Amino acid sequence: MAEEVASATAVEIARMVAGGSISAREVALTFLDRIEKVNSSTNAFLHVNQDWSLSCADLIDQKIARGENPGPLAGVPIAIKDALCIEGAPTTCGSRILEDYRPPYTATVVRRVLEAGAVPIGKTNMDEFAMGSSNESSGFRKCFNPWDLSRAPGGSSGGSAVAVAAGMAPVALGSDTGGSIRQPAAFCGVTGMKPTWGRVSRYGLGAFASSLDQVGPLSRTVEDSALLLSVIAGHDERDSTSLPDPVDDYRSALGSIKGLRVGVPAEYFGEGLDGEVAAAVRAAIATLEEMGASLVEVSLPHLPYAVAAYCIVSMAESSSNLARYDGVHYGARKGGTRGIDELYAGTRAQLLGREVKRRIMLGTFVLSSGYYDAYYLKGLKARRLIRRDFEEAFEKVDVIAGPTTPTAAFRIGEKINDPLAMYLSDIFTISAPLAGIPAISVPCGFTSERLPVGFQIMGRLLDEKTVLSAAAAFQGATDFHEAACPL
Ligand code: GLN
Repeated sequence: MAEEVASATAVEIARMVAGGSISAREVALTFLDRIEKVNSSTNAFLHVNQDWSLSCADLIDQKIARGENPGPLAGVPIAIKDALCIEGAPTTCGSRILEDYRPPYTATVVRRVLEAGAVPIGKTNMDEFAMGSSNESSGFRKCFNPWDLSRAPGGSSGGSAVAVAAGMAPVALGSDTGGSIRQPAAFCGVTGMKPTWGRVSRYGLGAFASSLDQVGPLSRTVEDSALLLSVIAGHDERDSTSLPDPVDDYRSALGSIKGLRVGVPAEYFGEGLDGEVAAAVRAAIATLEEMGASLVEVSLPHLPYAVAAYCIVSMAESSSNLARYDGVHYGARKGGTRGIDELYAGTRAQLLGREVKRRIMLGTFVLSSGYYDAYYLKGLKARRLIRRDFEEAFEKVDVIAGPTTPTAAFRIGEKINDPLAMYLSDIFTISAPLAGIPAISVPCGFTSERLPVGFQIMGRLLDEKTVLSAAAAFQGATDFHEAACPL
């Protein structure tokens, strides 16, 4: 039974637990055992609290014993990005400045998955304050890709992607500001979705860039992501930017893609795209066509400005959001004693990492008087044009398909000293958050070195249903998502 559970999807586990063929405790023990075996070689988890996980599992088993409905995620172990608050539990956002922080409240998404019967299995590694594309900027330790331990798992939700890829959890929560769910999903051969901005509550998510941040699911199958999204989506009175629109039952809405119009942007297949990635993604698009979709060429002419616009907007917002970590309002204190300036500056200098400091400085610069118009306002205008590109494309098509990343997983150390090269690895994922639209990445093949390749499908605002249907149809016709990593 343990063997069966280890490779089961969340949908299957919930069915088995609710049906009484296995207890939530046994399921949790199976995954905790796997974590014990492979976490030290991957560093996917920053914190695991077995006692808490097992007591949550016991609560589910007791509910079932009393004949109560245990919820749609009954007994499903879930890995949670360490940017999401859990009352009384470590929540570091991958930063030393929050090493000892214990939040006095729980993020709405976490509360919702627990109420739906999920069992928290641990908190996952991430780039500090979600800034990064490789997990090398974690304030604690690097995280490694289970397909090849010398390679980056992607970032910033690298730990969540590795947890799912290496079988330490069937599903995970991540957050995506410029690709942090989809890029690690692509690098680790799993499914990951960024919902429409506002679809999911951000209450209790450590803020990076508030106009872009969005929580979303990672899983092996699209069906599991659909299930998890239905649980976490919807209005939250604690987040005034969360949308009031009704939430679909995404899983039962997964449907046929006959007649679906799939936009293929020429700009996504230009210079910089690795040949093997291009071939796998083109084959994926052809698969959709064979299943009855029609292909339409579309243009996203402002793509070349996306990285610059993203950097300006996200860094400006992060410089403001991270001002609270000063050793007084929030976080640890490690400053000097000669006055408040030294206290603030000393704390931030010693407890924040290089990448975070670089972004705070750039963000402060683009917002400063005299440069605001030249940079920040320009960034906002470019963002508007990128958004318009999508609006025009979506007049002709239902979804837009292309690669998630320009290459498969790169080596640890390859880009960390070249921030521009690192930022360019997000070229295909950053447009969706700039436009606010939903986007998913699903595995669509392997390179000759057997590294997973990601296929990205983007949709209209609030049209998660169509995005998920296209992705699920693709998975129904292929088996890339079933491949197990060598670890
Ligand atoms: N890799 C991107 C960055 O470093 C995106 C990060 C994210 O989505 N949180 O900004």
